[in-house]
Amino acid sequence: MSLSGASVLVAGAGLAGLVAARDLAAMGASVTVVEARDRVGGRVWTLRDGFIDGQHAEAGGDMIDEEQHAIRSLADELGLSQVRILSNGFGYARPDQGGEVKLVPRSAARGWERVGHELAGLAQRYRWSERRWDSPVAADMGRRSVARWLDDIGADSELRATCLGLRGFFLADPEELSLLQLVDQFSQDEAPAPGKMFRIEGGNDRLTAVLAALLGERVHLNTELLAVSQRGGTVRASLRNGRSRTQLQADYLVLALPAPLLRRVPITPALPAQQHEAVASLPYGRGTKTLLQFTSRFWRKTGRPRAFGSPLPIGAGWEGNEEQRGKAGIFALLAGGSASDATNTIIEHEGIQGIVRGLGWLGAKQTDLVAWRQARWESDPWSRGGYALFDPAYKPSLRGWLAQPCGRLFFAGEHTSLRWQGYMNGAVESGHRAAAEVRATHIMGSGQ
Ligand SMILES: Cc1cc2nc3c(=O)[nH]c(=O)nc-3n(C[C@H](O)[C@H](O)[C@H](O)COP(=O)(O)OP(=O)(O)OC[C@H]3O[C@@H](n4cnc5c(N)ncnc54)[C@H](O)[C@@H]3O)c2cc1C
Repeated sequence: MSLSGASVLVAGAGLAGLVAARDLAAMGASVTVVEARDRVGGRVWTLRDGFIDGQHAEAGGDMIDEEQHAIRSLADELGLSQVRILSNGFGYARPDQGGEVKLVPRSAARGWERVGHELAGLAQRYRWSERRWDSPVAADMGRRSVARWLDDIGADSELRATCLGLRGFFLADPEELSLLQLVDQFSQDEAPAPGKMFRIEGGNDRLTAVLAALLGERVHLNTELLAVSQRGGTVRASLRNGRSRTQLQADYLVLALPAPLLRRVPITPALPAQQHEAVASLPYGRGTKTLLQFTSRFWRKTGRPRAFGSPLPIGAGWEGNEEQRGKAGIFALLAGGSASDATNTIIEHEGIQGIVRGLGWLGAKQTDLVAWRQARWESDPWSRGGYALFDPAYKPSLRGWLAQPCGRLFFAGEHTSLRWQGYMNGAVESGHRAAAEVRATHIMGSGQ
């Protein structure tokens, strides 16, 4: 086997790290995985405790799009079924002039289409530049915020509201998001609002649980990577498990940590200056997911979408467990950017009932709430944000450095993916990529 005799340490047991570790083990490497939390999965986190009727919902990565082949093939390989969800697609909820919230189907709202139409010229120039982030075209779009662009084109209130609603997708307000990231989304072949969507039957965490089970004792929980050095053809890692500190030596290291954690790990010798800056300056979006279990699925009405984007402070919402049986149901809210702050302020002042009141227009009644759980990702010590975002201060030309190997160090994670950044699919693809890079480096180095 191509990696037999080689040892590889993988730091981070999210989807990216686990996929890399599984590939590397299959290539014959002796693999060790270290994970700082007391569980695997990272930002894939299915919550079961507290909900009645054996129901569950996703506190992190939730929907899988039809064209996300890497994660869908992984599920197939692991024998996990994918169930179709939210087949009515997303609608759009926004207050009318009198302040009453109306939910309109996406086809009627046409908000996405309008954004796409307004961006058409920029998207064309971006495609001409072959979507390269090291081109002046990207540099120019990258330094402008979406808010500035809206001002520059004299956008009306409807277009502004649609762009504000995008904070449920990018986890960033128009002021925080670079025009480049918006153009990048709108110049994909597929529209950003997905077509067919799926979840893993029984919970998305079954993906990471099965991967971890296959890796068995190679996975070490509650073990934090503290520092790394590369010297004389090996990598040394210092690790902390509770009060004990250990050193581990390996031939290669895959760093599958979110950038806010990666930049806290001292690396000797230092990464090239641009690579260091690429990691150090990458912001992550604020995102709070609130899962509300009610005695009935009052939001279901014939022809009405079970998912919506919105500029509301409670964020975007959708049925969080459509595929599960039972009269009760879980409604999920994802509040991104300043909506995350607003959601947390509502909870501080009014308790969870303030959020339920914010869903009154959909038919939510306070008495029908049976359980709720919440994850505020910007306060999570091991991710420090929902997912990466490119703001107007980030230099687009640095992006390629996020995935660039450095000697015996390899980088994986959602934030390193070019096509699927911010998605579970991006994490899976990056894990496969990092493992393939280790293999190629090893083969070239050993003269095979
Ligand atoms: C609220 C929310 C909603 C989302 N919705 C969707 C969605 O609908 N669809 C979709 O496809 N994606 C979604 N995503 C994104 C998706 O969840 C992520 O892209 C993906 O799970 C990231 O995987 P990863 O392996 O790159 O990182 P992570 O899952 O964060 O894994 C990194 C691991 O490294 C560990 N770690 C950190 N520091 C250290 C250290 N020093 N030593 C050891 N271990 C360490 C962490 O504990 C973590 O387990 C969502 C994310 C969030 C937060």
